[in-house]
Amino acid sequence: MPFVITDPCIGTKDSACVDVCPVDCIHPRKDEPEFAQATMLYIHPDECIDCGACVPACPVAAIYDSPDSTPASQKALIEANAIYRAGDAGAVAKAEEIVKSHEAAHPDLMAVPPAERAAAHAK
Ligand code: SF4
Ligand code: SF4
Repeated sequence: MPFVITDPCIGTKDSACVDVCPVDCIHPRKDEPEFAQATMLYIHPDECIDCGACVPACPVAAIYDSPDSTPASQKALIEANAIYRAGDAGAVAKAEEIVKSHEAAHPDLMAVPPAERAAAHAK
């Protein structure tokens, strides 16, 4: 079961997870052209080896350890993680579209500072 990045990454996007991932499955990296435009980062579910290294590295608790453990309010972002492919403009656009829809659907969460957003997921 792959790990999933959720909305506390929006507004944080510091790449701390990228630096610790042993299989380079989190994108876009800072050296990829999509980085500047990406609203958040994504974990490629087929490449993630479930090592767990990214979870303690994330300063805002944005990463859940499986789609099942991802809170209801964040479920749409599972697909965004799965769709995103660095270097594939169509896939990037689709993933970003899902994220924009998520933001529009959850103004309550978006109003919470990123560092406190994960705590609000359970409410
Ligand atoms: S669980 Fe491990 S392999 Fe998967 S994204 Fe996190 S650091 Fe990378
Ligand atoms: S460490 Fe967390 S906030 Fe930073 S880029 Fe990764 S998922 Fe996003």
